[in-house]
Amino acid sequence: MEKHKVVIVGTGPAGLTAAIYLARADMNPLVIEGQEPGGQLTLTTEVENFPGFIEGITGPELMDNMRKQAERFGATFKTGWMTDVQTESRPFRVTVNGKEELEAEALIISTGASARWLGVPGEKENFGQGVSTCATCDGFFYRGRKVVVVGGGDSAMEEASFLTKFADEVTVIHRRNELRASKIMQNRAKENQKIKWALNKTTTEILSDNGKVTGVKVVDNDSGEEEVIETDGFFLAIGHIPNTAFLKDKIELDESGYVVVKPGTTKASVPGIFACGDVQDVTYKQAITAAGTGCMAALDVEHYLEGESTLDWSQTLSE
Ligand code: NAP
Repeated sequence: MEKHKVVIVGTGPAGLTAAIYLARADMNPLVIEGQEPGGQLTLTTEVENFPGFIEGITGPELMDNMRKQAERFGATFKTGWMTDVQTESRPFRVTVNGKEELEAEALIISTGASARWLGVPGEKENFGQGVSTCATCDGFFYRGRKVVVVGGGDSAMEEASFLTKFADEVTVIHRRNELRASKIMQNRAKENQKIKWALNKTTTEILSDNGKVTGVKVVDNDSGEEEVIETDGFFLAIGHIPNTAFLKDKIELDESGYVVVKPGTTKASVPGIFACGDVQDVTYKQAITAAGTGCMAALDVEHYLEGESTLDWSQTLSE
């Protein structure tokens, strides 16, 4: 069975930053990359807010660079899904793809959170070309234009308010008459003259022409009446789903499935397991915050292994 000091699960900015730090610290991390190598950033086009790139960089290029940087210092990669993990005793026993087993003295969970989708026609097809899951990332491109935000929670309110800095008109579409968002966020949005409301309406289709979003088809939930809201951009803000199904009953998760970490650290509820990036971040969900917590996880692992090692490090490679 393969034995490793550290296994990192997930290859977004959090996991790859942890890999860079741990590889440079001679920890030979093994990184397990799933079906979406590079994470959510590989689904975006231009990234203009990651420090260090004056003219911006594409999401796939940024992630490819991070991966190569980690490899340069000795990180190794394995393609597959971590399907199970035994957390009762250490070293942890990790199952990949339902059959292959590895041993790890420390584990970093950086499997991210996936944006929730409506599942309507035109949504995935126009992703990155008018359909976005991140106002902070893409709002800038809608200066002087019309956009819609779908959702009734705090994210929708925050994104709608943020988008009014650029767009001339922002319409919030929500499936109920009542918003879920906190009163303070609702009030802030309601006081904003640029925000229009399409409440109690179900989004049924995103319309586009020549690769550009042109409108959103909605149906009124009471009257059944259909209307098209013209728009240049469609922002999804209906929540995220943390990728933690394989961790259920293994470590503490909150009611939404996010990994609970000790505040100010990346330590999960089981000693030796650490979490970084969106999988433990309900609030910020930015590439740079993910990278920052990836660095924290690497340093936490280093301190942990210095203090509590149980493996014979002369035998850390495949037997
Ligand atoms: P959320 O609170 O779960 O709200 C998701 C919204 O999307 C709800 O209004 C929900 O409608 C709607 N929705 C879900 N699935 C849908 C579907 N299939 N079709 C149409 N609408 C759908 O998620 P969030 O707004 O991302 O917030 C997540 C957490 O982060 C919350 O705890 C929030 O307070 C926190 N947060 C805080 C801040 C802040 O304080 N600055 C900012 C952002 C987020 P229903 O209401 O009908 O269920």
